[in-house]
Amino acid sequence: MSPSANGPDSTAPQPPQMARHLGHCGCDRRWFLRVGLWGAVACPLLGKPQLAQAEPHPAQALVLSCIDFRMVEAEQQFLAQKQLSHRYDWVALAGSSLALAGFPHAAEAETFWDQLEISQQLHHINRVILLDHQDCGAYANHVDPTLSQDPQREQQVHAIYLNQAYRAITAKYPDLSVELYFLRLDGTAYPVLPTVA
Ligand SMILES: [Zn+2]
Repeated sequence: MSPSANGPDSTAPQPPQMARHLGHCGCDRRWFLRVGLWGAVACPLLGKPQLAQAEPHPAQALVLSCIDFRMVEAEQQFLAQKQLSHRYDWVALAGSSLALAGFPHAAEAETFWDQLEISQQLHHINRVILLDHQDCGAYANHVDPTLSQDPQREQQVHAIYLNQAYRAITAKYPDLSVELYFLRLDGTAYPVLPTVA
């Protein structure tokens, strides 16, 4: 049977706790995200919620990076220099800031928002760190195939999309601190200061 066009996909794999819950009442995944997993106690049909017993595991930040394998080591070293080793949640989407602009599809932006909500609910993050990088294939695909041949313009274009992401995140989550960085292939990280709208 195909999933309903108007409801959650009941055929999709679910985490065990949530799968049991979805089998008992009409609360869907979006409901969980809106109320928070701690809010599971609000569902009248859920039995004794195990999640309410769980210890919180605070993280310092949610990091959004590109998927590019060339940058992973440099990104981890950069985050270690910021005293964040093993203390951040990590989302990787092609283009990083470009994903929030809907590259390659609007679903990528939606994925980021979902993960940010979960990271805040479960790990109580208070920072979001966006890592763009030099010679990004997503930017070449979406903006200009020759973008990386002009380093100054390349960094300017990234700053535009990073700032766009900054405004979107701070509009939805005014209590979160948002940091923007552009990493060169040699691992050098350049902070991108938010511009006043
Ligand atoms: Zn990239």
